[in-house]
Amino acid sequence: MADLRPMEPVQTWLGRLAHGADLLGEIADFCRERHIVLGRVEGIGAVQRARLGYYDQAAREYRFFDLDRPLEITCLLGNISLRDGEPMVHAHLTLADADGRAYGGHLAPGTVIFATELLVTSFSGPGLHRAFDEPTGLPLWRLG
Ligand code: ZN
Repeated sequence: MADLRPMEPVQTWLGRLAHGADLLGEIADFCRERHIVLGRVEGIGAVQRARLGYYDQAAREYRFFDLDRPLEITCLLGNISLRDGEPMVHAHLTLADADGRAYGGHLAPGTVIFATELLVTSFSGPGLHRAFDEPTGLPLWRLG
């Protein structure tokens, strides 16, 4: 059964990230500095190179792959919650090449920003905490 919670948006930030920085690291640093522990992130832009993950459901582990070329960020979408008491940014990325072919996956460290316009919205409410989920092997939100 689906288990979703009402969240109230508190504040939204809109801005750009630093050229040449790590995409996931920049977002995580921003959230830590602003003490954002519950929220959503979205963005567009371009990367110099990317490292994405695909969760192998049978092996219960991430497989990472590199795209060592400039690509457009057609969609960066994610959320912010708590894991081991620390804010964790979980984001997925869809990227496109010069021919419009798309690639996508779980955003991993090693994705280098060319230019990124980011929107972050913080929410009020009880924090969502991640904990090991036996059926999936993933750190999912513990609700209920
Ligand atoms: Zn993911």
